[in-house]
Amino acid sequence: MHIAEINTMRVLILQFTDPTQDTPTPLFSHNIGVLCSCLKERKFTASVVALNGYQPGKLRAAMIENRPQYVLVDMPILSATAARRTIADVAWQFALPVAVMGHYPTCQPSRAISIPGVSALFLGEYERPAVDFLQDVRSQFDSSGLQGVWLNTAEGLVKGAPRPVETNLDSLPFPDRDVFDYGKIVAATGEAAFKAARGCARWCGQCINDIYVDLHQETNNVRRRSVGNLLAEISDVIARYEGVKRIRFYDHAFACDLAWLREFAARYRSSVSLPYSCYVPLEDVCAETAELLASSGCNRVDTMIGSGSRFIRDEVQTIHVSNEQIIGGCALLRQCGIDIFADVYVGLPYETQITFEDTINLVAKTQVRNIRPVIYYPLTGTRAADMCRENGWVSGRGEECYWRGRSVLDMPSLPARSINDLAQKLPSMLKRRRGLRIRQWLSSVFSAPKNG
Ligand code: SF4
Repeated sequence: MHIAEINTMRVLILQFTDPTQDTPTPLFSHNIGVLCSCLKERKFTASVVALNGYQPGKLRAAMIENRPQYVLVDMPILSATAARRTIADVAWQFALPVAVMGHYPTCQPSRAISIPGVSALFLGEYERPAVDFLQDVRSQFDSSGLQGVWLNTAEGLVKGAPRPVETNLDSLPFPDRDVFDYGKIVAATGEAAFKAARGCARWCGQCINDIYVDLHQETNNVRRRSVGNLLAEISDVIARYEGVKRIRFYDHAFACDLAWLREFAARYRSSVSLPYSCYVPLEDVCAETAELLASSGCNRVDTMIGSGSRFIRDEVQTIHVSNEQIIGGCALLRQCGIDIFADVYVGLPYETQITFEDTINLVAKTQVRNIRPVIYYPLTGTRAADMCRENGWVSGRGEECYWRGRSVLDMPSLPARSINDLAQKLPSMLKRRRGLRIRQWLSSVFSAPKNG
């Protein structure tokens, strides 16, 4: 490699997006953005290309345009099949080295490192391991044993120990947004998205968070940016990209620390005069939280109601929150003038006609109008998915089902076709809630022939 090329090594990051989109465009990712900033600080050239599935034509165009020397693949669990085929093309057709990172390699590292064409894998949070590894590659040093890096070598697999997570988030650079063509995202949505924290203190059975917690053997992996650091990034983004009309905080730990939230609420309005939305678990909502959010400019909260069945919430989702907390949390937010958008799961393990009726009744009591029905998909490695697998409920229909809004489970208590029907009709059922008619309709759904 020529010395000038060594100094400016070109790294291409492939990002897998929703395969139901017609035109894939990069989706803003805080983590990929931070990685790109870290790479640029060390004089790498970094670019991001979005693929919405296995797209050999788009991959070829990306290779010609970016002429990468190393390819990093951010592998979501739900696009693992498309990513495998893409990696094979990068490795064999374009003869380029590939490293994988993100949720699938972290949750299924042994499978991910065995994908033909994969040279290296970054475990857990990837910006530091990736940059150290690529520096070694550029300098032609041996990176065997680097923390957070698994390496396929001529002698076999070398597993670096997990790398401790970054505790000082303020030490990380702001994410590079230009790699996502962020001006276009802002123009299309009027919104700028931010992460205030990393990690999550909760333990939801359907979520991969506990795999990250176990990886670093911590009981609480939440780390938070200082309010000043977050506000500085927001001001920077508003100044750089014209047309930002609202702010969205999309991490799940945004409102979980009352002391931090008090400081944020005291400073946000004087530095940013835009409304914002954030994610708040309902069990975290108290009168003070709701008031702090509203007084600082929050006009929308995204949350999860999950299931209306206490049994499913406790035993499957392990969200130990009572109906009263859910209803009360929604009431407090509503009283403060905050709109609520809630995910409601349909087809969780052990779902039956009775648990679905519980869900309808609970959601009706919350008076939340903006309901997003989510058909449960068992993410491999999670406790809820293990439960499905142990019961033999996971069909062979695969990740395609998730993207098409179809259940992948075959449960004797509720066939997939009924789950799909219930999810589709949930919003209208809530609007026209009449106990007897719904029960009659449910009875007809549940007595339908049981094939998926
Ligand atoms: S609150 Fe969100 S991020 Fe945290 S464990 Fe639950 S689903 Fe995962």
